[in-house]
This record gives sequence, structure tokens and C-alpha cells, in this order.
Amino acid sequence: MMEKFKRFMMGRYGVDQLSYGLNFLFFILVLLGLIFGNSWLFLLALIPLVYMYFRMFSKNFAARYNENRVYTNFMSPVYNVIDKIKTKFNQRRKRDKNYKYFKCKNCHQELRIPKGKGKVTITCPKCHTSFEGRS
Ligand SMILES: [Zn+2]
Repeated sequence: MMEKFKRFMMGRYGVDQLSYGLNFLFFILVLLGLIFGNSWLFLLALIPLVYMYFRMFSKNFAARYNENRVYTNFMSPVYNVIDKIKTKFNQRRKRDKNYKYFKCKNCHQELRIPKGKGKVTITCPKCHTSFEGRS
């Protein structure tokens, strides 16, 4: 069964970022359909779903590739925001409770000093700007 599917998918475009976008749109429309009890939204949800499958099984790589490029260009501000949130979240998780974290006022480099040392002068290792902080 899996072998058969693999052979079927050979030479076909498959999944890319636009597929995920269409899949997401499908779920949003279904969700809205459920919330508002509007069956037209379910019908509307079929459009991105059918389009997603059409692209997945398509053999026209150049056309699908171009669609995806247009989509990713269009979505790049959104991806940037998501990336920023992810980095921020990861930074926060990595933080050590024994340190206090500062941001350099000049170059925005993140700095950390051990806690409990009172008022200290911090010098940024990157741009050598000094400022005062309480640890
Ligand atoms: Zn700095």
C-alpha cells in the first residue's frame, strides 16, 4: 500500500509552504462555519482544500514552484514576525535565574550579570558603552 502510494507520488509536486497555508485556510473556514453555523463557509472551505490536493498531485513543477514563491514573498512579513516571536520565546526560556539580563542601550546586545551585586556599571562587550544597572 505504502509502496503503491510512493510510486504514485513520484514525479508529483507534493507539499510546500503554500500547502500549509491552504490547509490552514481550510481549517479557519471550517472553524468559522462551525462558529457561525453557516454551511456556505464549509463549501468555501473546499476551495483551498481542493486546490491544495491539486497542487500536491500536480506534475507541473515550474508552475507550482512559482505559486509558492509568490505566496512566500507575500507572506514574508508574517514569517518574519513569527520568527521574531520564536527567537524571543527561546531566549526567554534559556535565561538563567541567577543572572539579571540587560539590553545595551547603544547596540541592543543582550548582557547578563550575576544577581545580588547591587548597583553596578555594566560595559557592553560589543560596543564598549557603559551604563549603570541594579543586579
Ligand atoms: Zn553595546
